[in-house]
Amino acid sequence: MNAEPAAQQRLLQLADVDAELNRIDHRRRAMPELAEITEAEKILRERKDAVVSAETSARDLDREIARLERDVEGVRARAERDQNLLAGAGLPAKQAADLQHELETLARRQGVLEDEQLEIMEQREAVQTNLDAAQGELAEAERALADAQTRRDGTLADLEAAEAGRRRDREPIVDGLPADLVKLYESIRSRGGPGAAMLRARKCGACRLELDRSEVSQIRAAAPDEVLRHEECGAIMVRTSESGL
Ligand SMILES: [Zn+2]
Repeated sequence: MNAEPAAQQRLLQLADVDAELNRIDHRRRAMPELAEITEAEKILRERKDAVVSAETSARDLDREIARLERDVEGVRARAERDQNLLAGAGLPAKQAADLQHELETLARRQGVLEDEQLEIMEQREAVQTNLDAAQGELAEAERALADAQTRRDGTLADLEAAEAGRRRDREPIVDGLPADLVKLYESIRSRGGPGAAMLRARKCGACRLELDRSEVSQIRAAAPDEVLRHEECGAIMVRTSESGL
């Protein structure tokens, strides 16, 4: 393929713009905020689990407290009934003794239940402390995630603006180039790597390999409008005064 040397020079401007677009794309994929968000989401999940676990413990203990209250209430009611019966007149001695015995048993039972209640209340207080702390940590994790997301969005907006700028730069360059040269350039680029680069000091600007003597003499012999490609990487090599020929 042939293209005027001036067109080949302009192709280098296109390659520069495309290199900048690649850098923008790379920055978008390698944004530190992305790793930060992944980590923040992980912490958030862990802290949500911790809150759910503390809430479950609190509910279990609340149920236990309610059960103990019902039990104590039952014992109290029974004792009250027994006392009323004892206070009544004309009770046979045997029945009075049985009631007295039951009242003692009920008093012991109430004592046991009340001890249990105290212990459970203490546990419930400790669980509440844990739950409050877990909720505080969860709120903190939510803030950290939202903060990382805001910063990611800011970086993305900057990169999008930079990208839009480079795309605008690209259009007039492409319009000023021969269509067949652009087509070749794009097909090379679609395989990854730059489509064109300057031949500088006998090195291919795309892959940085130094050309050997026979390649250099072939290039020297080539017509100025011949479109040269590096055999190693396929990129179009554009000759300039810096090419060392
Ligand atoms: Zn090369």
